[in-house]
Amino acid sequence: MALSRAAQATIAGGAVGALILLLRAPRFNYGGPDSANGLSRDPTLLLPAFARKLNLLFAAMRARGLDPMLNEGRRSRARAEALSKEPGAPGIADSMHIYGAAADIISASKGFKDPAFFKALGEEADKLGLFWGGHFKTRPDSPHIQALAVAEENKFRALAKAGGDLNAFVAQELAA
Ligand SMILES: [Zn+2]
Repeated sequence: MALSRAAQATIAGGAVGALILLLRAPRFNYGGPDSANGLSRDPTLLLPAFARKLNLLFAAMRARGLDPMLNEGRRSRARAEALSKEPGAPGIADSMHIYGAAADIISASKGFKDPAFFKALGEEADKLGLFWGGHFKTRPDSPHIQALAVAEENKFRALAKAGGDLNAFVAQELAA
């Protein structure tokens, strides 16, 4: 069946619209679905100001020929508490992850096993004003990226407790 000119234009318009949406949407690589233990790879659950900056970090990593993947984004309070009790404690209970202000980024092809990947991640995060977990003094965490410096965390947590605008706080931090 031949399509009318109008129908063809509608289809073309739809394709262009979809392409624009695709280009505008943060280009995260998920690597897989969320896992049953509550691990979330959904970038839309992150604070928007942080997600925007994270998207630039992904672009910078790709420009270096690397393959970043969002391994974990927002974390439930229950999962953060469980992780803090595990041997070797892979996370803290009051982690920036529970506010959508942190993300763990790994290599899609090599996972956690590529020191050069994490060195590049730290360099690019520094350039963008994001805080890299490799700078943690007590327990460096090289896949971890957060929206604010450790020195700002308590102010941020107090704001969260008071029901303040966390995204505005993060936007200001990242603009500085
Ligand atoms: Zn983390």
